Amino acid sequence: MPNMSPKKNEMPVQLPEERRHNFDEVALGYTEEQAINEADRCLQCKHKPCVKGCPVHINIPGFILAIKNQDYKKAYEILTASSSLPAVCGRVCPQESQCEALCVRGIKGESVGIGRLERFAADWYLKNAEEQVEKPEPNGHKVAIIGAGPAGLTCAGDLARLGYDVTIFEALHVAGGVLVYGIPEFRLPKKIVRKEIEVLQKLGVKLRTNMVIGQVLSIDELLEEGFEAIFIGSGAGLPRFMNIPGENASGVYSANEFLTRINLMKAYREESDTPIKHSRKLAVVGGGNVAMDAARCALRLGAEEVYIVYRRSEAEMPARLEEVHHAKEEGVIFKTLTNPVEILTNEQGHVSGMKCVEMELGEPDESGRRRPIAKPNSEFVLDVDTVVIAVGTSPNPLLRNTTEGLETNKYGCLIVNEEGLTSRDGVYAGGDAVTGAATVILAMGAGKTAAASMHKYIQEKRKKA
Ligand code: FAD
Ligand code: SF4
Ligand code: SF4
Repeated sequence: MPNMSPKKNEMPVQLPEERRHNFDEVALGYTEEQAINEADRCLQCKHKPCVKGCPVHINIPGFILAIKNQDYKKAYEILTASSSLPAVCGRVCPQESQCEALCVRGIKGESVGIGRLERFAADWYLKNAEEQVEKPEPNGHKVAIIGAGPAGLTCAGDLARLGYDVTIFEALHVAGGVLVYGIPEFRLPKKIVRKEIEVLQKLGVKLRTNMVIGQVLSIDELLEEGFEAIFIGSGAGLPRFMNIPGENASGVYSANEFLTRINLMKAYREESDTPIKHSRKLAVVGGGNVAMDAARCALRLGAEEVYIVYRRSEAEMPARLEEVHHAKEEGVIFKTLTNPVEILTNEQGHVSGMKCVEMELGEPDESGRRRPIAKPNSEFVLDVDTVVIAVGTSPNPLLRNTTEGLETNKYGCLIVNEEGLTSRDGVYAGGDAVTGAATVILAMGAGKTAAASMHKYIQEKRKKA
C-alpha cells in the first residue's frame, strides 16, 4: 500500500534569518529516509501522466520506483537516459507547471515531489559514484557549438556520445551560460554545473572560451574551417529596458549585469575585481525568476530594504511560487500593482528615488493576462538608491547581423523548423536564442532535438558523397 499522505515531504531549508546573510544553498535536499518516504507516494500510474508534462519525457515512475527500492544508481541512470543535467533540473525546473502539474496525487492533495526526488538521486550519484565516462570511437566528423549554456552543453554531449569531434565556442571565460552567470549560488551551487561540464570534457568535447562568434570568427568561417554542422545556443542575454527618464543614471543596473557581477565575478567578496555598489534601499523592477534572484542577492549583499516592483498583481507573477515564497520569507518587500515612471537622480547623477504610479487590472490583453492600467493621481516616490531592471531579455543580434541568410522573427529570435534547422543549410539552433527567455529544461530539449537532426544531416550528406 503506497504512502497516502496528501502532503509532500517538506524540503529541509536554511532558516530565512540565517540564509539572508549568506550565499549557501537554501534548499538542503531530502535525506534518504525522506526520499524513500516520498517515493512511496507515487502510485506508479500505468498511463504515466506526469511524463507528458516533462519536456524531455523522463521515465518518472521508473526512477521513483528505483529510489523506493533504494537502487539510487539505477534511478540516476534512468534520469540520465533523458536528461544530461538532472542535478540542475531537480533544483531549477518549474516542476509545479510541468511534470508535477499532471501528477494524479495533485488532484486530492499535493503532487509527488518529482523534482525533489530527481535532485536526491542526482546528488546521491555525484557524491557516491565515480562517473564512468567511456570516450566513444571517433566517427571522423567535426561539429561546432556556439554557446555553452544548457542548450549547447546538451547538444554537445549527445553528439560527442555519437563519436563526433565537438568544439564549443563560448563568449565568456567559463562555460555554463545562465547556470553560472545568472542563477545564484544559493539556488544552484556552481560546483554542480562544473561537474556536469567535466563529464562532457571527459567525453572529448573541446571548450574554447573567450570566443565571441560573430566577432572573433564568423559562422561562415567556422563552416570554411571544416565544421560540417553548427548549433547556435547563444541564449537571450540582451537586457530590455523600460525607456523611462533616468534609466541611464548611475545606480541603475540591468539584472543581467547585476547578477553576472555577483555570481560570476563574486562581487560580494572583498577581494573581487568587479565590486558592486552596496545599496541601502534597492528596487528590482519585474516579477520573474530573474527579479526574485536579483532581489534575494541584494539582501545578501546587505541592503536594508529590498523591493520588488511589479505592475500586475501577485497572481500574474511569472516567477516560480517557491522563489516568491522564499523571497518573502527572507524579507523582500513586494510592491505589486505598481509601475515606475521615472528614476530620480541627485546632483551627482546618482539614483535618489523612483517615481511610481499605482495600477489596477483591466481586461485581459493578447498575453491572456489582465492589462494593468494606471490609477489617476496615484503618483508616489519610492525612496531607493539603486534600481535593478528585470523586465526581460532578447537574443543578441550579433550572429544574425554577421551571418548572411540567418532569419529571425520580429523579436530577434532565430527561426527554426521542428528539427531545429535555421534558414541556413547545416546551421541548427535551440534554447533561448530561438524561444526568447524560457527555461533550462526547454533549452536542453531543444539541444537534444538539434543533436539528433545534425547527426541525421551529416549521415545523409555522407551517403550522398
Ligand atoms: P544561455 O544559458 O543563455 O547560454 C547561452 C551561452 O551562449 C552563454 O554562455 C553566452 O555567453 C553564450 N554566447 C552568447 N552569444 C555568443 C556568441 N556570439 N559566441 C559564443 N558564445 C555566445 N530557468 C529555469 O528553468 N528555472 C529557473 O529557476 C530559472 N531561473 C533563471 C534565473 C535567471 C537570473 C535567468 C537569467 C534565467 C533563469 N532561467 C531559469 C532561464 C534559463 O536559465 C534559460 O532559459 C536557459 O539558461 C537557456 O539556455 P540556453 O543554453 O539557451 O542559453
Ligand atoms: Fe520534472 Fe523537470 Fe525533471 Fe522533467 S526534468 S521530470 S519537468 S523536474
Ligand atoms: Fe507517480 Fe504521480 Fe506520475 Fe502517477 S502521475 S506515476 S503518482 S509521479
